[in-house]
Amino acid sequence: MDAWIPLGYLASAALFILGLKKLGHPRTAPRGNQYGALGMLVAVVTTLVDMQVGTEGGANWGLIVAGLVIGSIIGLVMALRARMTGMPELVALFNGFGGAASALVALSETWKYIEDPALALPTGLARQVIVVAAGLSALVGWATLTGSVLAMFKLMGGIELRGKWFPTPTWGPRWLNPVKLFMLLGVVVLILLSIGDPTNQAYLWTIIGLSCVLGVVLVLPIGGADMPVVVSLLNSLSGIAAAFTGFIFSNPVLIVAGSLVGASGLILTFIMCKAMNRTLRDVLFKEFGGTTREKVTRTKAGSDPEEVAMMLDGARKVIIVPGYGMAVSQCQHQVKELGDLLQERYDTEVKYAIHPVAGRMPGHMNVLLAEASVPYEQLIEMDEINPEFPECDVALIIGANDTCNPAAREDEGPLAGMPIIDADLARTVVIVKRSLSVGYAGVDNDLFYMDKTMMLFGDGKAMMTDLNNAVKDA
Ligand code: NDP
Repeated sequence: MDAWIPLGYLASAALFILGLKKLGHPRTAPRGNQYGALGMLVAVVTTLVDMQVGTEGGANWGLIVAGLVIGSIIGLVMALRARMTGMPELVALFNGFGGAASALVALSETWKYIEDPALALPTGLARQVIVVAAGLSALVGWATLTGSVLAMFKLMGGIELRGKWFPTPTWGPRWLNPVKLFMLLGVVVLILLSIGDPTNQAYLWTIIGLSCVLGVVLVLPIGGADMPVVVSLLNSLSGIAAAFTGFIFSNPVLIVAGSLVGASGLILTFIMCKAMNRTLRDVLFKEFGGTTREKVTRTKAGSDPEEVAMMLDGARKVIIVPGYGMAVSQCQHQVKELGDLLQERYDTEVKYAIHPVAGRMPGHMNVLLAEASVPYEQLIEMDEINPEFPECDVALIIGANDTCNPAAREDEGPLAGMPIIDADLARTVVIVKRSLSVGYAGVDNDLFYMDKTMMLFGDGKAMMTDLNNAVKDA
């Protein structure tokens, strides 16, 4: 039986890598998910066999089954109750749970030696590896938990949360940054001290406490448009914590799976940084301006669907720009119907402009439009579609705001420097949203007030249904 265990771990690691590769394209992504889930099943079964469950001296079946049942019920209830618009918060929370799980496993391993002084830790290098891995797992895992819970609240409440629940420190980043570094260094020193005294409880609880505070102070000043970077970084950290835990038990599949999550999360983090035109260091250590939402003082008269339908009648090229409002109103099917109507009736060229941080999750727009069966060839990334706007008759913006806000071209403000969809360069702009209110970053949008812009005020789904009917009747 022992010979099968490394093979089981190898098979699950291979399935994870294959799954990750398939996730690289929307068409093969569902298959990638299935490979990943199968890999996890193989890893769990192999681990149970490895632990010699049920045999004398093996693990306790009762505890394992109880954990599986309780965890599955919690997961099921959360999955059933999750609304599509709540997915980003759920993903943030799951990142935190991942970090906490690794940190708790590391804690239980350390606690074993505190509780039973007769148990001897290995000596030499093996001891150093176990103690340092447990310490790093605690650092990354607890920081990921508190940072993710804070990120979840920020995603739920937007930037206002900073003002309402966590006033932005007036002492600002000037001395906050040294504090972050000081805490990080403190944890590292305590981990090193733990090698000589691994059962010292003062070290243990100080490491846990400092790590929890570190997660909060790292995420606290980041907000607005920079949140995608934070979410993908926390995702990466949850994997890194798991990899450290793998070193405690010399568990190869935990090391491989954790490293894969850590590495892919880090790649995503850098993609998000590039999309925001920021460096990771700036996002983490420099506070961008704008801690409050701007007040909208200007007015703009709304248009009606019939008027927009008449204008679409003569359009040769239409670029649809989806944003978070499309996700909220779940109008992706009506958006696809409009695209099809324009192509069939007027032979209009229709494309979809995808901003990398549109919505509230990486790939949010791609997922929704794929669900509505929009052909992948029509989904064009920002850099590729932007040069096409000057020759585009209509830019039809559905619930997007920050990602096409010209304020990003200015030097100051929360959006400063973020590349945007150049919808303002189209000949006419139509915007579907409920009001003139600001987007996630809290910045008023000049695009709404341009002469060539027509505002269709209303819920995305209701307005797109009316617009489709108006096009059919035109
Ligand atoms: P925004 O969040 O900037 O704006 C969305 C707009 O949708 C709002 O202004 C709102 O206006 C409108 N809206 C809301 N509900 C509806 C509805 N039912 N029907 C019609 N419109 C509606 O969206 P963007 O996608 O342009 O930008 C995403 C922002 O989120 C960026 O700042 C990004 O950095 C941030 N972010 C992105 C993450 C990611 O991973 N992609 C993660 C975290 C944050 P109104 O109320 O007037 O209807």
